[in-house]
Amino acid sequence: MEDNGVWIIAEQNRGDLLRVSFELLNRGRYLADRLNTSLSAVLFGSNIEEEAQELICHGADRVFLVDDPRLEYFLAEPYGKMLCALVKKYQPGIIIGAATCNGRTLMPYAAHKLKTGLTADCTMLEVDEQTGELLQTRPAIGGNIMATIKTPVARPQMATVRPRSMRPAPRDTSRRGEIKKEHFDDRLYSSSIKYIGFIEESKQDIPLQDADIVVAGGKGLRRAENFKLVQELARLLGAAEGASRSVVDLGWAPYACQVGLSGKTVTPNLYLALGISGAVQHLAGMQTAENIIAVNNDPEAQIFKVADLGIVADLFDVLPRLIEKLRERKSRERGKTDNE
Ligand SMILES: Cc1cc2nc3c(=O)[nH]c(=O)nc-3n(C[C@H](O)[C@H](O)[C@H](O)COP(=O)(O)OP(=O)(O)OC[C@H]3O[C@@H](n4cnc5c(N)ncnc54)[C@H](O)[C@@H]3O)c2cc1C
Repeated sequence: MEDNGVWIIAEQNRGDLLRVSFELLNRGRYLADRLNTSLSAVLFGSNIEEEAQELICHGADRVFLVDDPRLEYFLAEPYGKMLCALVKKYQPGIIIGAATCNGRTLMPYAAHKLKTGLTADCTMLEVDEQTGELLQTRPAIGGNIMATIKTPVARPQMATVRPRSMRPAPRDTSRRGEIKKEHFDDRLYSSSIKYIGFIEESKQDIPLQDADIVVAGGKGLRRAENFKLVQELARLLGAAEGASRSVVDLGWAPYACQVGLSGKTVTPNLYLALGISGAVQHLAGMQTAENIIAVNNDPEAQIFKVADLGIVADLFDVLPRLIEKLRERKSRERGKTDNE
C-alpha cells in the first residue's frame, strides 16, 4: 500500500482555479480513500492563497503552495523544477495532472526528470486490490482498445486525465486542511523559455465543454450546408454545436466543435447524436453524458449501444420536423408572454 499520499496538480489561470482542478480532486479523493492515505494538491501561481483554501474545501487534505509573482504564467521549466523538488522532499506515491496544454507539458517534463513513467490521457484510474498499484486506463492503438497500464517499479506513479472525464468534487466549506507554503531559491525560477502573451481560442456562444445540451452532427448529414440543421436545432434548444471528426475533417464544422478522442470531452445532461456512427474514438468524448439520444438510419450503428433513446430513422425526416415543432413552441411561448 502507498502511504506517501496521492497528489493532484491544480491549475489556475490568472489567479482563478480552473474547473479541472476540482475534477482532479474528485479522482484523487477516490484513489486516496481506496488507499487509505492522504490527498494533497500542488498549486503554483501568484497571489493564490485563497485558491489554496478553495482546494481544501473541494477535498484536499494538504496544499503545497508556491506563491510568487514570477509564477503568474505557466512556464514548464520553473514549474517542472519545483514539482521535482517537492516530489523529492515528500515522495508521493501517485501524481495526477490534467491532460490540458499545461498538464501535458509539465507532467512529461517532471516524469522524465524523476525517471519514472507517465500514462497520458487516461479515461479511468483505479487501484489494484492486491498490490495497491495505480491502474491507468486509456485508449490505445488508435482508440481501438482500452489498455490498462501499471508502474510497478518506479515512483511516483504519474498519469494525466482528460478534463471533463469526471465531475468536479463538491464544495464543503467545513473541511479543514493544511496549507504548506514552499519557497525555492532563485535558481529554480530561471528559464530558457519566455512568456510572450496569451491568445484565447475562438469560442462558440455556448462553450461546448460547459454546455448542458450538445447537438452533434456526423457524416450522415451528407453535405456541408446540412450542418445548418445542427446549428438551428442547437440554437432552438440553447445548446452547443458538436461534430464528429469526419465532419471536422471535411471542413463542415470547425475543430472547436469536435467531440472525441482527438477533440473535446463533454458531459452534458443531453447529447443528441445525429448521423454519427458511434466509433470508439467518438464515444471516448461523450459517453459520460447523462442522457444520449441518437438518430441513425442504420439499426446496427454502434451509437445505439450507448444511447438512452435510439431513433432508427432518416435524419432528414426527423430533424426538419423537430425544428418545426420547436419553432412552433417558441412562437406559442412568445405569444403567451405578449398577451400577459
Ligand atoms: C487516432 C484517432 C482519433 C480519432 N478521434 C476522433 C474524435 O475525436 N472524434 C470523432 O468523432 N472521431 C474520431 N476519430 C474517427 C472515428 O474513428 C470515426 O471515423 C468518426 O467518428 C466517424 O464519424 P461519423 O460517425 O460522423 O461518420 P461515419 O462513421 O461515416 O458515420 C455516419 C453515420 O451516419 C449514418 N447515416 C447516414 N445517412 C444517414 C441519414 N440520412 N440519417 C441518419 N443517419 C444516417 C450512417 O448509418 C453512419 O452510422 C478518430 C480516429 C482515430 C484513428
